[in-house]
Amino acid sequence: MTQLESESPTVTPIALAESLEKWFGDPGTESNSLNFSSALELDERNELPAAGIERLRGFGFNRFFVPEQLGGNLRAAEDILMLTRVIARRDMNVAVSESTQVWMMLAWIGGTPEQQAKHAASVLQGGVVPCLAYSEPEHGADLAANTFRATPDGGQYVLSGEKWPINRGRTSTHVVLLGTTGDGTTPAKRRQSMFLVDRSTVLSGEVTGVPRVPTYGLRGCDISGVAFDETRVDGFARLGAEGEGLELALRGLLVTRTFCTGLSLGTGDTMLRTVGDFLSDRVLYDGPAAEIPYVNESLANAYLSLLVAECESLVAMRGLHLYTEQFSIWGNLAKVQVARLVDFSAKALARTLGARYFMRAHEHVGTFQKMYRDSAVVSVFDGSEPVCMDSIALQLPALAKAYGKDRDEDWRPLYDLRAELPVFEPHRVSVFGRGRDATFASLPHLLDRLAALEPSGGLDAGRLAALRTRGEGLREELEALLARVQDARRTPAGQDPADTATTSTKTTAPALIRIAEELSALHAKVAALGIWLFNRDHLGEFFADGAWLEAALNRGKVHQYETGDLDPAAARTLAAEMHRQRTEGEYFSLLTVRMAEPGAPEEDGTDRPSASPTAA
Ligand SMILES: Cc1cc2nc3c(=O)[nH]c(=O)nc-3n(C[C@H](O)[C@H](O)[C@H](O)COP(=O)(O)OP(=O)(O)OC[C@H]3O[C@@H](n4cnc5c(N)ncnc54)[C@H](O)[C@@H]3O)c2cc1C
Repeated sequence: MTQLESESPTVTPIALAESLEKWFGDPGTESNSLNFSSALELDERNELPAAGIERLRGFGFNRFFVPEQLGGNLRAAEDILMLTRVIARRDMNVAVSESTQVWMMLAWIGGTPEQQAKHAASVLQGGVVPCLAYSEPEHGADLAANTFRATPDGGQYVLSGEKWPINRGRTSTHVVLLGTTGDGTTPAKRRQSMFLVDRSTVLSGEVTGVPRVPTYGLRGCDISGVAFDETRVDGFARLGAEGEGLELALRGLLVTRTFCTGLSLGTGDTMLRTVGDFLSDRVLYDGPAAEIPYVNESLANAYLSLLVAECESLVAMRGLHLYTEQFSIWGNLAKVQVARLVDFSAKALARTLGARYFMRAHEHVGTFQKMYRDSAVVSVFDGSEPVCMDSIALQLPALAKAYGKDRDEDWRPLYDLRAELPVFEPHRVSVFGRGRDATFASLPHLLDRLAALEPSGGLDAGRLAALRTRGEGLREELEALLARVQDARRTPAGQDPADTATTSTKTTAPALIRIAEELSALHAKVAALGIWLFNRDHLGEFFADGAWLEAALNRGKVHQYETGDLDPAAARTLAAEMHRQRTEGEYFSLLTVRMAEPGAPEEDGTDRPSASPTAA
């Protein structure tokens, strides 16, 4: 039995996160398997953090990627978010190496009941290390141009070609890949099929690893490739219909992009905590450097960004259960915006940390520079930021058309963190959500709710009035952005269409990408407003009085801020709450999530799954 199997079946996402915290113990304690000091050392040596990975496996992390109806523990998308935060805040090498479990999602989305049962049983047994092999050296984001062959032959397939760069390319046991089954006469969109190959069961031919590539961040990860040479696999390896590969790939990515938010939240927490700890202890000008007004404001702003990022992430997780079909836009919005909130702050925090931001040794808070490099990958992989933006941009006309046509409904399940959710059904995710977005659709209701609020406690009449004004501003901004969509699609009057001609088949106007960017920032503001309105009665005074929300809504694009923009009183309130959570061992969060106690050893665990057959 793993640690997890002894947990209560009704454990909440927060309790689950806290139990993984205890399982790992304090990352500041060097005798724990997963600690900051050895994470840094292994990273310097480009080594996979084997002890940390084994420790995570001992918790039963794999079980969270198998739906409950198939015997696993995947109940709530919020569970995955919270667990990912716990791991990523310690070491992204472990988080990224082990979260490839998520690619088994392709079997739950496109597999037959027989395929699902078989793969679920293997994952639950332990030792399955999937990798996702879509990218090819010559084709990058242009997946439709892939040339990896999957030739049908008497109910089997012969696979040939190379996939690169691939996380876990060399050390995977299973490969989820796209292979070309069609020919020149098949429309590009239908040319590829999806395969889930168990490397130990290929019928003939070879599967080999392509050497690792040295990387800027994630230096301990196996970023490499995988090559197939006339490798014969049974037809059982194909997921979905022949020609359905690209569609399945996109559907899977919409779910996994949403989960990437947990990686950003985890690294964002450690970056802020490292800087906050250092500058609180450092004495300059007769006091802690954290008290220098500029430093104080920088820390407050980074904290605020994490709170907004958390709101966007939580609402997206709940949306996955409630509005699964809408993730063709939503998954991209969430990934882009949460990474932007953390990336912008990371840069500001590096400046605030000062010279030590450039130093790599543990004793010189070298964890910061590692997190800074590792965190940057979120906006690069799993659909880079431009690719996600492009996908949103292409759906803007549908979004503009659908806006205002949704029925008002009960928005409580989306925003009230106590509300029960229906089962998460990944197969319901769709490549085209017809322009629907529940967060934007809920805005009129949120504004009505805001209008009906009475001043109370820390929420005085002045702040309430300011929030109402900002709330109305959100509606105006949304309508103005959607109105710009038609203009951005037209060639400006008087301009020769030849001026906009391109030899690329990718023709999305940059002006549409710009609207997509602005919409993703707006989306996070609406999510924050919704979370605030529905949870004011149970998340404490700091949350309820809304100073943080007002500060968030006061920002232009919600991830960007300039020195001196934050109201001094709001800066003090935010920094005080950040320092409280820092010194009391809580996550930087609107919720109360307890970290492992300072100095806590990892919890005893006698039952560990047998070692993985791959070299971790
Ligand atoms: C650490 C790491 C791990 C990775 N792991 C995996 C993995 O496990 N599996 C896997 O399959 N791949 C993986 N990749 C590859 C990754 O997903 C790449 O993003 C992908 O190969 C696209 O290539 P590219 O970003 O280099 O851009 P290219 O495709 O080479 O694009 C070149 C330029 O065009 C822009 N561009 C491309 N498409 C668009 C568009 N639609 N709209 C606007 N601009 C566009 C790009 O942003 C870039 O500026 C990994 C990459 C890294 C760095």
